[in-house]
Amino acid sequence: MKIFITGGAGFIGSHLAERLLGRGDRVLVLDDLSTGSMDNIAHLVGRDGFDYRIGSALDQPLVSECVDRCDVTIHLAAAVGVRLIVEKPVHTIETNVRATEVVLNAVAKKQKLTLIASTSEVYGKSAKIPFSEEDDLQLGPTSHSRWAYACSKALDEWLGLAYHREKKVPVILARFFNTVGPRQTGRYGMVLPNFAMQALTGEPITVFGTGEQARCFGHVKDAVEAILRLIAAPAAVGNVFNVGNDEEVTILQLAERVRDAAGSSSEIRLVPYDEAYAEGFEDMLRRVPDVRRLERTIGFRPRTPLSEIIADVVADQRARLAVR
Ligand code: UDP
Repeated sequence: MKIFITGGAGFIGSHLAERLLGRGDRVLVLDDLSTGSMDNIAHLVGRDGFDYRIGSALDQPLVSECVDRCDVTIHLAAAVGVRLIVEKPVHTIETNVRATEVVLNAVAKKQKLTLIASTSEVYGKSAKIPFSEEDDLQLGPTSHSRWAYACSKALDEWLGLAYHREKKVPVILARFFNTVGPRQTGRYGMVLPNFAMQALTGEPITVFGTGEQARCFGHVKDAVEAILRLIAAPAAVGNVFNVGNDEEVTILQLAERVRDAAGSSSEIRLVPYDEAYAEGFEDMLRRVPDVRRLERTIGFRPRTPLSEIIADVVADQRARLAVR
């Protein structure tokens, strides 16, 4: 099989490309290197079956050409990371909405199987734990940039489902919960690589808010496994799936566990949200996936324990420090 990955030089995309090549598939990556990086795929360049294009997922002729050359499309290209969303809302909305439109327009012509990445952000401020795919979405006001990301991805989902219902395009939607692992950069505000780097360099570990807010972290290798099984499952077509681990941890506990794993004596510092992001920033208290639909459909759910995830991320950040 030949798989087209938009955003294939990104964190999840590069792991997916590597796994696909490893099992003998061919891969075509498209990436504009905005948040992705050649460093993520440098080890794949030159490998049998690997091909890449540096370009935008908004470029309809380029995307159409790539789609036509492949059997399956995995659309991961998006503006991600809470910091980026708050700082560049125009870029976020336009990239997320238009790129999905471009991809769907291309795949619809040949009815090609397509998986579109969405996010747990779409659940917004919902307090109904765990979050299941058929739950109501509870977004905040348009005056708060954070919700633009959730809304843009929700629109992507609606568009994908509409193409499926109206034009019979085989589309699968995957809502990724906090996905972490080696190669994820802390540059766009993601908590785990930031904590690991702060712990390793002896800097204060910056916990935003009270640290009572909790998250569930899934290992990227589990996210990749879920993607591979979803595209192989006929029952997945036309449906939305939570993809995440349901082991919950507060951000304060996470800071302590990362500090221990790194053998660090960094101070843990509480930073008010207004200082960390922008005034009026709203955070989610809890975010836990209901993974029953995923498990029922593909016979798998992300289960890598948090201790293993933290160890992998600390080792990755340590290796980055060594080559600095
Ligand atoms: N966070 C933190 N310190 C950091 C970065 C993030 O305390 O240096 C918090 C953030 O406010 C949120 C959680 O960690 O409550 C997860 O943040 P991330 O940006 O990784 O993902 P989110 O769940 O917000 O999409």
